Amino acid sequence: MTDPTERLQAERAATAAQLAALTRSFDDVVESIEDVGNDDEHDPDGATIAFERAQVIALRRQAEANLAEVDAALTRVAAGTYGVCESCGRPIGPDRLDALPTTRTCVTCAA
Ligand SMILES: [Zn+2]
Repeated sequence: MTDPTERLQAERAATAAQLAALTRSFDDVVESIEDVGNDDEHDPDGATIAFERAQVIALRRQAEANLAEVDAALTRVAAGTYGVCESCGRPIGPDRLDALPTTRTCVTCAA
């Protein structure tokens, strides 16, 4: 098996950058809410901002979860358990690892 560290680290950097960008856009959205003020019940932008805010929060949660998965995968690489199914203990297929480098389970257990 090829060393997955480089790929996981690249994935980690990309996810961290995404998270930083999402945090910035979240701040922008919060700022625009503050600009509108609290008496915006009849403001047509109010619903859009609320939607954008919910979307940024969801994306940020997803990026945070991805980052945690990448970190967990790197920990498994260090521990020598990367690529071993956490459920049945058998090796995870290289094709599956290639498609999902942070996966914890083999294709049989994931099904
Ligand atoms: Zn398994």
